[in-house]
Parts: sequence; C-alpha cells; structure tokens
Amino acid sequence: MILALSLLITTVHAHADCSAFRPIEEALACTPTATSKTAEWSEFLQYRYEAARRSSDEIYRTYRAGQWNPDNFSSCALQQQDLDNLKIAIPVRFFELSLAELSRSRDPSIQAFVKEVTVRSTGNNILPFRLVGHIRQDDSAQGLAGFHRGHQSIFMNFDQIPARDWLIIYTHELFHALDSKLIEGMQAYGDPQVNEKIHDLIASGKALKELSPDERGVVKNWLIGGLNRGYLAEARAWSLTLQFYTTLKKEKLQVVIPWLEDILKERRAGESDFMLMLRYLDKRFIDPTENIFAKPLIQESLAKVRERIRDGGIQVDLGSLRAYAVERQEPLRATLKNLPKR
Ligand SMILES: [Zn+2]
Repeated sequence: MILALSLLITTVHAHADCSAFRPIEEALACTPTATSKTAEWSEFLQYRYEAARRSSDEIYRTYRAGQWNPDNFSSCALQQQDLDNLKIAIPVRFFELSLAELSRSRDPSIQAFVKEVTVRSTGNNILPFRLVGHIRQDDSAQGLAGFHRGHQSIFMNFDQIPARDWLIIYTHELFHALDSKLIEGMQAYGDPQVNEKIHDLIASGKALKELSPDERGVVKNWLIGGLNRGYLAEARAWSLTLQFYTTLKKEKLQVVIPWLEDILKERRAGESDFMLMLRYLDKRFIDPTENIFAKPLIQESLAKVRERIRDGGIQVDLGSLRAYAVERQEPLRATLKNLPKR
C-alpha cells in the first residue's frame, strides 16, 4: 500500500503541470485562418503576446507558492513563438510583480525604495533586468543572481533561487543597481590614467613607505574604488537587505530565512546593520593575489586599507543607499536607561 502510494505520488510529480499555459492555449484556439485579413492576424499576435503575459503571472504565482517545476517549459509542448513571447514577458512580469509585492509594505524606507525603482524602471529610465531559468539553454549567467557591474544589469535565476528567498534576493540586487558608490568605484578603479600611474609606481620598485603622500593617496583611492565594487558594495547592499528582511518579516510579507537569521545572530549590542555586514563580510572577502595584486606594493597597500577600514581609520558609509536606511536606536536607549534617576 505504501509502495503503491509513493508510486502514485512520483507519477503525479513527474507529470507536467501545464495549467499556467492555459491562456496561451486559449489564444491559440483563436488562430485566424489562411483567408483571414491582415488586421485579424495582427490582432491575434497581440492577443497571443498578452496570453504570454497572463501565463507569466501564473508562473510567478506558482513559483512563489513553491510549486513551479521548470521542466514544464519543455514538457508542455509550447510553440517557438510562444516561447519567444514568454522570454520577453516573464522577466517583465517577474520584475513588476516582485515590486508589487514589496509595495504592500507600509514601511517608509521600503516605500521610498519602491518609488525609486519604479522611477528608474519606467519611461526612458531603463533598469536592465535579466531573468534566467525560464529558458534552459540560457546559461550565460552563472549562479543564483547577480549584478553585472559592466552592463549594470541584474540577473536572477529563478530556477535555482528558492521561492522563499526570491523577494530578498530581488531586493538585494536592486540595491546594487541604486548604489551610486558602486558606479563611482567602478569609474575610480577603471580610470586609465590612474591605472597607468599605478603601473608606474609598481615599476619604480618602491615600497609603500617610500611613496610620497600624493602617491600613497593615488594607490589608496584606487584600492577603495576597487573595494567599492566588491566588498564594500556587498556590505552596503546586504546591510539594507537585512533591514528590509527584518521589516518585511514583521509585516508578515516575508517568511523566515534561516541563513539570514544566522547572520543576524552575529550582531553585537548596538551594532548597525552596516557595521554588522562590514564585520561579517570582512573575513569572507579574500583579497585577490593574481596579476597586479601579486605585486608587493599593492598587496601591502590593500592589507593596510582593509585594516584601516576595520579599525575606523578609513570612514566608509552607505552613500546614496543611506536614503533607505533606518538608524538603529539601541545605543541611545541604552544610554538613557543608565542615566541616574532624579
Ligand atoms: Zn550582492
């Protein structure tokens, strides 16, 4: 009996669920005939695309409920035209529906964030968003999700992101897109004149202590630019991701994510989300050692910069992302509590 039941369950799971594609099926039932007028055909094409949008909504809903099986794309015998339509419609709808989910929050920081993302993604302001996972052949984007620093585009692989984590990862990637320090960092780090100067300094064979204050400044700013694309960019984005996660969880718009809870557990008394993430990521960001980073001058300078960020000698902050941060009040409250009673 148990065996029969488990066989039945396996069969049910292996069977593709094509219900999300019902709108497409319905549209196809209205396919004009060979003798139909051009206008009818163009109307049909429009209708067929709208069906792909409705299917995308259904895929999103099913995915967020943790019930989407990516094999449905191949198992449901879709025509190439509909797959092409879905390729366009799914990222658009996933982007919009995710933002709509966030817009249900009453939190002022999240509302400000939703507003900014809406401005940036409508009209002429195009915030590139690339969704992979729906088309199996597209494996150009590796990993779960990311922000492509060069193209300044976001990609997310919904095939691999657990439904539970989706909204949080989405928020995280959008923070990168809104982070002006990341863009500045890329410019500072990639500046050809600065790079030339760095190479000259390496070629001079001087040690860090032999550099003039100006030269040291050039190396330091170049390295901070580099960190602003990597370690510091992640600390900024993750600190706000944690803040949004905590708020959304309180509002019952997000379920518990154990791996984020593990990070939150590491918080020291009175520590801000940003300080927590700076500390948490510091030990996880291993400095590069290849090419230019193999040079002793750069190695020594980078170690120094990392150390000074750690001890507060180099001030780092959230930059433009500060607009979405809520300052934690614990230290203030702790001080007030300790005041002698009058
Ligand atoms: Zn990131």
